[in-house]
Parts: sequence; structure tokens; C-alpha cells
Amino acid sequence: MKYCSTRGKESGLAFRDVLFAGYAKDGGLYMPESIPTLTPDELESWSSCSYRELVYNITRKFIDQREIPNEDLQEIVSSCYKRFSIPEVVQIKKLGDGLNIVELFYGVTLAFKDLALSIVGEFLNYFLKKSKDHVTVLVGTSGDTGSAAIESVRGKDSMDIVVLLPQGRCTKIQELQMTAVIEDNVHVFCVDGNSDELDEPIKRVFLEESFVAEHRLICINSINWGRILAQIPHYFYIYYQLCQSIGDSVEVVVPTGAAGNITGGTIAMKMGLPIHLVTSVTLNDIVARTFQDGNFSVKDSVVPSLASAMDIQIPYNVERLLYLSSDGNTVEVGKLMTSFEENGKVAVPDNLLNTLKNYIKDCLVVHDDEITEVMKKVMEDHKYILCPHTATAVAYHYAKKSTYPRGIIATASPAKFPEAVTKAGGVPVTKGIDHLESLPTQFECMAKGQDWYVMLKNKIKAISSKRKG
Ligand SMILES: *Cc1c(COP(=O)(O)O)cnc(C)c1O
Repeated sequence: MKYCSTRGKESGLAFRDVLFAGYAKDGGLYMPESIPTLTPDELESWSSCSYRELVYNITRKFIDQREIPNEDLQEIVSSCYKRFSIPEVVQIKKLGDGLNIVELFYGVTLAFKDLALSIVGEFLNYFLKKSKDHVTVLVGTSGDTGSAAIESVRGKDSMDIVVLLPQGRCTKIQELQMTAVIEDNVHVFCVDGNSDELDEPIKRVFLEESFVAEHRLICINSINWGRILAQIPHYFYIYYQLCQSIGDSVEVVVPTGAAGNITGGTIAMKMGLPIHLVTSVTLNDIVARTFQDGNFSVKDSVVPSLASAMDIQIPYNVERLLYLSSDGNTVEVGKLMTSFEENGKVAVPDNLLNTLKNYIKDCLVVHDDEITEVMKKVMEDHKYILCPHTATAVAYHYAKKSTYPRGIIATASPAKFPEAVTKAGGVPVTKGIDHLESLPTQFECMAKGQDWYVMLKNKIKAISSKRKG
């Protein structure tokens, strides 16, 4: 298995190369040069696999044995989910009326990002231990990514992590999940700015090639291929749990922000899994406009919604979907993306758009009032509390019928979003978060008027000299 950039200037790369890189050197994203397909035998025999076994089988197809031998991959897969609160790692709650909630939030930070980041952390650690290296992970977060990344790195002496979070702009619980981690290798800055503003110093640092190389900086947001790879197996799990018989179709509803999760689903489909993908978004509807009308265009600003983890301006992984729908035509993807970056918009050509519509069949834009209404309805009808992100996908379920069994992806636990639960007339869930309030916290501040870029660089330099000494 070799990897290339979606824009074609790099190819023949190993898994390790792309795992440790952020963007490709030509500004593109890394993808497999070709997508492995399943034999009918595999599709049949995988149906009895546990979630962990699916993760093993699928990652095996994307990572060369010479890079990670079978036994080592087994070891990684069996150790990475050990802090999840249910042994199955993920589970499906069948509420009745076809409402099958795929709960992906049993990791430490109670959101589905734990699924991907816990294995990405193990992969990084595996290679670093072999080469006796050290890296520093830089993360800017609006909420869920930062805490999941911290949990995947904490206590590992091959890595340090520096996180910038927008103080007062994510929920109290999200903030505590980052500040209440006291570890030698975890460094949290509470920044007096929004998530776009705190991305600035990080972007600036990553632009300095020699500084990045000297201090071995890496990035594990959803542009990282490892994250996408780790988001393929749950589609197989959903399929086998819900299909009537092997070969029949299953529909999956995916609440979408930066389109990382749904890219995993699209790859599963390309591998030969008979699923139909549909998606829900907030008023930040660039993904809907792109998939429905080929209108890939940025709006002036982000509109905050109750489903804050889906409030994004640029869904980075659309580039990967374009690569998949053009069947790996890197020249065409490069042209489209360059034009998008220059003009803030580009029209997806009809041939690509038609393929894209085959991958992602439908998309629903969901307002805050509908989120609240759906949360209320599911509480009343099923005594089940949804998180606001999951509620957008359930809104899809109520709006449109499916001819196939349907799985609805639940991306976070409602415990993380007490404000939204209260607004919908529910009693906030405390399971999994009640210990947080009493924990000591540790963080530094970046105040208005200070030079965040210099502060960030100083922190990175301090980490480097400590690890060297
Ligand atoms: C990150 C996140 C999403 C969006 O996922 P993408 O892969 O970026 O589309 C949805 N819900 C929650 C709770 C998240 O944390």
C-alpha cells in the first residue's frame, strides 16, 4: 500500500510518512494510491467479527506488513481501546421505529474523536519508540479534538502536546477535559480568541519549514490520514449489525462538519461495503451546497449553532471526496482546489458531481430549533437523550423515509452538552463527567494584546530543550 497527495506532486509514500505529515508538500491531502476492495468471501466472513477485529482487518489492508508486522498491529489494536467504558468499544441502541442510534462515544472524552485518536496515538508511539524519536503535537481546537488528542498522548514519553483552546467559547466540560489533565507532556493554553484566531499562530508556525523540522512538530487534526483510516471500521460494524442478509443495503446517516467521518464511510463503500450514505449539517451548510449543487463556496463567517463541532467554514476533507469521485485524477483535483483556494469558491464539474451524489445520496440542513425539537421528541417518545450533533442526524430520520435499515451515527454523549439538554427540557446527564469539577487544573493564558505566535514558539523551544536535556 502506497500513498500519494490528492494534488499529485507526491506519490509512493509509506503509511509512516503520511502519518507524521500534515498537508502534502503541494498543499493537498494524503490518500491511498488505490482503494483495496473486499472479496465476496471477506465480506461474508467479516460479518462475525468484533469491532476490534474489524479494525485489525481494515487497517491491515492499508498498512504494509513491512511497516507494522501482524503481531505488532494486533498489539496496537488490542491496547488502544482499553480505556473505553464498554468492552465492545461501540454499540447500537435500537429505540424502535427504525431509530438505530450508533453510539460511538464511549471513549474517555465522550465523543467519537476518541475512536480515531486513540489508535493514531498508538501508531505514532509505535514508530517513535522504534526510532527512539520524540515529536511535539500542535493542536488548535474548538472543542472535541483537543481533549481526544490530549488523551491519546498523555503519559507517552515519545510525545508532547500543545493545545490552544478558545477560552469561554467551548462548553465548560470540554474546557475541563483539557485543563484538568496534569501531565508532564501536556501543555494547554487558554486563548482569549475564537477558533479562527487561535489557528493563526499555529498556521504561522507550521509554515516555517526549518522550525517544524528542528522541533519535530506534527499535526493530528482531521487532515491526518490516520484519522480517516480509523474512521472506516465503524461503517462495517454498523453494516453487519443492521443488514438483513449480507449483500443487502444499509443506510447510514452521518452528522457532518469537516467531512472526515463521511470520508471514512465513502472509502468503506469503495471497498465494496453495500451502504448508502446520507448526511446532516448545521446552518454552516457548505457541505450541503457542494454535494447537492456542486457549489463548493465559503461563506463570510461561521454561524454558531447548538452542534458546535459541526460549525466549520472549510470542510477540508471534501478534497479527499473529490479525489475519490474523480477516481484518483490528481490533475483535476489540483486544479479545482487551487481555484477554490484563490477564489473561495469553485463549481464541481457535472461528471464529478454525479459520482459524488452516488457516494453521498442526500443532505439535510438543520436549524437550532429543529435540534431542540428533535431532542425533546426523542426524550418523550423513547426516554433517550441525544447530543445536539446526533439530533441533526435524527432530524434527517424524521424528515425522510428509507427503504433500507438505517443506522444513525451518534457522535457525542449528551453529557458533554448540558446547556442543549436543558434547553430541550431534559435533565443534564452527569455520567462520565461528574469527577471533572473537583480535579485540579493546569493551563497558561494567551491574553489579547500578547504575541501568541512568539509565546507558542517559546513553549515549543522549552519542550525541545527539556527533552534533549
Ligand atoms: C468532530 C465532530 C463532528 C464532525 O465530524 P467530521 O468528521 O468533522 O465531519 C460531529 N459531531 C461531533 C460531536 C464532533 O466532535
